[in-house]
Amino acid sequence: MASAARRPGRRRRGGLLLPLLCALLLLGPAGAAHIKKAEAAAPGEALRYLHSAELGEALRALAAAAPPGLARLFSIGQSVEGRPLWVLRLTAGLGPERDGEEPGGGEALPGRPQVKLVGNMHGDEPLARPLLLRLAQELVRGWAGGEERIGRLLNTTDIYLLPSLNPDGFERAREGDCGGGAEGGRENSHGRDLNRSFPDQFGVAEPDLEPVPEVQALIAWMRRNKFLLSGNLHGGSVVASYPYDDSPTHKPTGVYSKSADDEVFKYLAKAYASHHPIMRTGKPNCPGEEGETFQDGITNGAQWYDVEELTSKPVVMITEERTAK
Ligand SMILES: [Zn+2]
Repeated sequence: MASAARRPGRRRRGGLLLPLLCALLLLGPAGAAHIKKAEAAAPGEALRYLHSAELGEALRALAAAAPPGLARLFSIGQSVEGRPLWVLRLTAGLGPERDGEEPGGGEALPGRPQVKLVGNMHGDEPLARPLLLRLAQELVRGWAGGEERIGRLLNTTDIYLLPSLNPDGFERAREGDCGGGAEGGRENSHGRDLNRSFPDQFGVAEPDLEPVPEVQALIAWMRRNKFLLSGNLHGGSVVASYPYDDSPTHKPTGVYSKSADDEVFKYLAKAYASHHPIMRTGKPNCPGEEGETFQDGITNGAQWYDVEELTSKPVVMITEERTAK
């Protein structure tokens, strides 16, 4: 696949999407003050990498402490080594949990768009773990504190945060090791790259999903829901990458592969990038990729490089700073 043309592990497709993060970034002075206060109250609270059991505990505690009807924690499945794939759902007006409820955190709410953010698909790209936990904490705190914009967000958006799709890889990863590969924690415990394991919209062969229960769980969850927008947060180049990631020719790079929602995706990607102090420069100057530039800090995925897979729904992907556990 195209990424093989690049140095594996160096170029890590990623992303985070973002209507949600944009909303937070756009909170304005009041929101910024609120965030500063939270940091002062609990320095570094969510800004370290928690082991998977700790992350589960932190999510459980947050869901339990949230005001009634605001949060629901559930797992969409398990990793190869049996770790839960936690999702924290946040929106106003959730009903009580029912015994025997299908995994998925309950029914969709009429007229409320579902948005999901997925992180740590590559186990050694862990940025989303603390970031999504911190985001969840801010949303709960803002709601409980009567913050007007967060209230509006949670009254109008059904938010699902999945901080780690590859908890096994994360546990294998080592801080400072940016080499990638199965040993470094990029792949799952069957040695499979989750970000290269989805069906390909331009291909004919059905991928073998047996070794990737994490991907199976994500696909099944997506089929049970109607996510309007999604984002996927990685570590690597600092850019907002939007669909599609591949083209019919699978030319390694340079093919702009347009989705039907191209204008919307460009708008969203630009909105995110323009609020990121490094991304918006278009010159992230990442070690080893010093010459790499992105106009406005965004790129079409296939134009950047082709990846033969598709997460079956359009997503905007935003790659954040490279990090290591
Ligand atoms: Zn990645």
